[in-house]
Amino acid sequence: MTTIEKAHLINEKYKAFNFIAEALEGGEGLLSGVAVSVKDNVCVNGMQSTAGSKILEGYIPPFDATVVAKCRAEGAGILGKTTQDEFGFGTFNVNTGYGVPLNPHDPERSTGGSSGGAAVVTAVADFPHLAIAESTGGSISCPASFCGVVGITPTYGRTSRWGLIDYANSLDKIGCMGKTVREAALLLTVISGPDKYDSTVLHEPTQDYTSYADGCAEGLKIGVPEEYFGEGVDTGVTEKVWTGIKTLESEGATVTEVSMPFTKHSLSSYYIIAMAEASTNLAKLCGLRYGLHMPLEGNFDEYFSEVRTLGFGEEAKRRIILGTFTRMAGYRDAYYLKALKVRTKVIEDFKRAFKHVDVLAAPTMPVVAPKFSEIAELEPIQHYMMDILTVAPNLAGVPMISVPCGEHLGMPVGLHLMTDHLEEGKLVKAASAVEGAR
Ligand code: GLN
Repeated sequence: MTTIEKAHLINEKYKAFNFIAEALEGGEGLLSGVAVSVKDNVCVNGMQSTAGSKILEGYIPPFDATVVAKCRAEGAGILGKTTQDEFGFGTFNVNTGYGVPLNPHDPERSTGGSSGGAAVVTAVADFPHLAIAESTGGSISCPASFCGVVGITPTYGRTSRWGLIDYANSLDKIGCMGKTVREAALLLTVISGPDKYDSTVLHEPTQDYTSYADGCAEGLKIGVPEEYFGEGVDTGVTEKVWTGIKTLESEGATVTEVSMPFTKHSLSSYYIIAMAEASTNLAKLCGLRYGLHMPLEGNFDEYFSEVRTLGFGEEAKRRIILGTFTRMAGYRDAYYLKALKVRTKVIEDFKRAFKHVDVLAAPTMPVVAPKFSEIAELEPIQHYMMDILTVAPNLAGVPMISVPCGEHLGMPVGLHLMTDHLEEGKLVKAASAVEGAR
């Protein structure tokens, strides 16, 4: 069976793709023989790229995102576009215009979001495969944790955002998933680095991140932030995460407690900033230039509102309204500007911690992947609250990795490791020690 046929089978079973390539083209290089799947919000030349939204149905980019071009230059074949929450708006990958992916460990449970399809394909592919994913507030770590794979979110600016369909520009980071730490590190090595098309990308030289995957935690100072083990974190999850931390200790790391007092404010800061940026980004989707078109009738406002009513899902509409509200004259100081100040405090929490430790260790998610029947009972605010452990490092723009550290209720549990800007190597090192010991 060809890899493309296998991808179709994976899709029939788990709804992991929005689009599958007709043929896998590859060449020579570091990714020779590897099929790379691409989250639907990252543009691929000639492949429908919708960011999971009906409003972009039919949009076929005439160019590759820089990260995709870098993969092709290293010989990878592009397999297809993986399912996601619409524009990244979600934690369970149930906010989608095209169907909901299923968790390979239990199809009645969520894959996590928003890079759900990426995590599924990574978990089940029996061929050489790596996934390009993207995180704004936790969208790589969450599905990696729920599906039992490795997910790396790099430093903000480590990878180019050129060709990404933006959610929130000050937060978006393209990253990667793999079955193992070394595999994820290989993809990070390929996609990192400067890009003349993205003026926000960092110009620090790239590294071969695989060289850190030596399974040894000798000399690493690990900090355990007490605020990440509070109310709402399942005790079964906490237990497995501590097993992972103890492994780091037995592999040569030292472990101390640290405090990150602004953690509890990170959620409100994140959602205000993310929605404010999202609501401006989405204004360009008005049925004229990209994706969904309708017969031109009425004046522009009428047409604009008809297309957007039809094309956007419920969560996208909620975020456009909330995001617009927090930026309005009279509310801007109270919400948006206040949220930016809190973000600075969150960054200071991390900078203070990294004066004493190399890596912070915590649960990735407070729970294992919930059942769809449980998710249906949740209010929007309860969806947002699930991100309590991932939004702070995303606000701070520090890199993070989720690595499997055990099972609870028969479902994978992720250990979340976070480190200072541009220190991705330390994450690979620590995560490979946890993985090796298992
Ligand atoms: N769950 C978060 C949100 O809905 C993060 C999603 C993401 O990183 N794209 O905003």
